[in-house]
Amino acid sequence: MPHSRVTRLLSDYVAIPSVNPMGRDDLDPAIVGEARYAGHLLQALKALGIDAECIGGAEQPSVVAELRVAGAHDHVLVASHLDTVPVDGMAIDPFDPVVRDGRLYGRGSCDTKAGMAALVAALEEVLARGKLRRNLTLVGESDEEMASVGVRDVIAHLGEPGGRKVDWALATEPTGLRLVNAHKGRVSARLLAHGRACHSSDPDRGQSAIGALSQMVLELEALHRHKAQQPDPRLGPTTLSVGLIGGGRAPNMVADEAWAIIDWRMLPGEDEASVRAQLEATAARAGLAGRIEVAECTLDKEALSTDDAAPVVRTCRALLERAGLEGEPTIAAFGTDAGPLSLAGIPSVVMGPGHIAQAHTADEWIAIDQLEAMTRFFVQLLSGADVVG
Ligand SMILES: [Zn+2]
Repeated sequence: MPHSRVTRLLSDYVAIPSVNPMGRDDLDPAIVGEARYAGHLLQALKALGIDAECIGGAEQPSVVAELRVAGAHDHVLVASHLDTVPVDGMAIDPFDPVVRDGRLYGRGSCDTKAGMAALVAALEEVLARGKLRRNLTLVGESDEEMASVGVRDVIAHLGEPGGRKVDWALATEPTGLRLVNAHKGRVSARLLAHGRACHSSDPDRGQSAIGALSQMVLELEALHRHKAQQPDPRLGPTTLSVGLIGGGRAPNMVADEAWAIIDWRMLPGEDEASVRAQLEATAARAGLAGRIEVAECTLDKEALSTDDAAPVVRTCRALLERAGLEGEPTIAAFGTDAGPLSLAGIPSVVMGPGHIAQAHTADEWIAIDQLEAMTRFFVQLLSGADVVG
């Protein structure tokens, strides 16, 4: 059986490596970076007569394209990140897409080149039939898997909130075609403990940074348990976990320095400043002010919380239900670029084909029927089926 248009598009995209090195420098340059995939999309969109450009740095470019139609119902932004996670240890050839048993295999097939393929296939169909009823900003953003550099470039490119044309946004991620309007955000914090070194044969002459940090870790575990008492009804509680720790210089020295890295999963309404304030207050409460420093506190992903009654949710829900799919909005356990878009003032949701359990795996794949259902969803969205139908 010949492959559908969207399957052929996705095969093309998977065959173009766009690995996010995620801070590593030991990866083959031939597979690293979004530039090749961005360039391919740019040419394909221009060939469709669409006004498209690459923005951001040459190392981490993002694609932005805009389509307008007279009498448009509204202006929708669809974002599908360009980068994939690395390919070490994969059980399949990551860049040789194989279609077998109703699946397409390859790195990025599920997360999230499927979303872009569905959008482009739908766009081709809607434009060919002259059925476009919404203005569209198509975004392929870089660096979603790491620091969200791409989506921040895109937000800057869209201009100030008052001057923006975009009404709402959808970020494609593998949600199994479920509509997601809430997820937690993530902050990484690095604590530095200070002490005074001396010979370990007489440790009372010094002050152990490891002792101070150990006390702080116990305080943070208590804070985590306290947070568990105040869950958000949909997302559950804020969580914090000390994931990495180190310190000291030698077994026979009292440590003058120690460090720990905290992964903080925050609810909507928190940000890196509020996390920093809570860490500093915890240190002060434990009598550790001056000995524990919050050396870094970095926002990795903003939380998402879009109202069930927002037009973006109502529109997507109506289209899903028309297609006989589940329309009830749900939550995701992972962070997405819908968080930053939403915090920038663009009401946003997350939805896409495939399941997160298939993403980042050794044999990443997407079910073709999910891919094709997402294409039909985009055809209905772009042709305004909920408005004119
Ligand atoms: Zn993704």
